[in-house]
Amino acid sequence: MSRRILVIGEPSAGGHLSGASLEAVGAALRLGGGAASVAGFAAGSTAAALAADFARVGVAEVYLTEEPRLDSAPLAGFVRAVATAIAESKPDVVLVGGTTFGRDFTGRCAALWNAAAATGVTEVTESDGGLRFRRPVFGGRATETREVEGGRAVLALRPHAFPLPAEAPVASKPHPIPLPELPPVLLAPHRAGVEAVTTGSGPALGDASIVVSGGRGLRAPEHFHLVEELAASLGAAVGASRAVTDAGWRPTSFQVGQTGRAVSPQLYVAVGISGAIQHIVGMISSRVIVAINSDASAPIFKVADYGLVGDLFQIVPALTSEVKRVRGIA
Ligand SMILES: Cc1cc2nc3c(=O)[nH]c(=O)nc-3n(C[C@H](O)[C@H](O)[C@H](O)COP(=O)(O)OP(=O)(O)OC[C@H]3O[C@@H](n4cnc5c(N)ncnc54)[C@H](O)[C@@H]3O)c2cc1C
Repeated sequence: MSRRILVIGEPSAGGHLSGASLEAVGAALRLGGGAASVAGFAAGSTAAALAADFARVGVAEVYLTEEPRLDSAPLAGFVRAVATAIAESKPDVVLVGGTTFGRDFTGRCAALWNAAAATGVTEVTESDGGLRFRRPVFGGRATETREVEGGRAVLALRPHAFPLPAEAPVASKPHPIPLPELPPVLLAPHRAGVEAVTTGSGPALGDASIVVSGGRGLRAPEHFHLVEELAASLGAAVGASRAVTDAGWRPTSFQVGQTGRAVSPQLYVAVGISGAIQHIVGMISSRVIVAINSDASAPIFKVADYGLVGDLFQIVPALTSEVKRVRGIA
């Protein structure tokens, strides 16, 4: 069965389609079996730029609400604009990237459209007349498979679970969608602006393909530079456990886990982190996990692909200098 899929475009700080939205296009192209069944939705002052980005990866048909007030309107207002686009484009499935915005959007949109909803989705396939999707549950200890009869669903995807689409430029076919009549409260500025959260000079934590995180095993804030130097040598983002952020060694924007960021890099290095379940849920879907811990029975080793049992104060500097040597960094 060929499904019609609407991908919600979320702008990055630079006003282009975010990596998470591009991954949603990648997932949609797979599920729909090609670009013909995929359409995009773009709204706000960057809608035209987002439509051009959709066209660059083969998605010609884009439903556009060029209404700058949506840049700062509450999510409830944005979702109402999407509902109008849904009524026009008649999708079977709505896909959105697994960002904070995407996770918030999913429930609201599904409620308005009377559809199934799920976040953290890592696989979507056809089942008999329906849609089957899978996602990690219980902190990554199990994978849940769900089927939606008929297939009407709004799904937020797990970051990095789907490939980015290849460049396949096509001419854009925008469909302007007027903003529906909305109560003023749904368009009133909800936020004055958005500041990118940084974790040092390296890549952003949510987008990085390598993350090096430090925990209480570092003993004091003045030792955290060991983690930062290893991260810098690998071109990685820096993360931290909650023990570190609660102690004020690093800001909460560094925190990985249940009450911090969920990351899914290609490589996650946990330095002096015990592996509490609240930390594990935030990094379990990393492709390769390396743990450095002096306690061989630390729970982090249960999820690690490679474990180094020993003193981080010896291992980390040695690893950093070896990485620098191999990569030719002075
Ligand atoms: C509701 C709730 C939400 C939470 N959310 C989060 C969250 O989002 N993220 C998060 O991380 N935590 C979260 N926590 C806290 C979590 O339960 C743990 O307390 C926390 O993750 C522990 O951090 P840690 O591993 O750095 O410290 P510890 O558990 O103290 O572990 C330190 C580790 O360092 C090792 N170590 C010590 N010295 C060395 C050395 N010289 N060389 C090598 N290894 C060494 C030790 O063996 C130990 O395993 C949450 C807790 C609750 C209750």
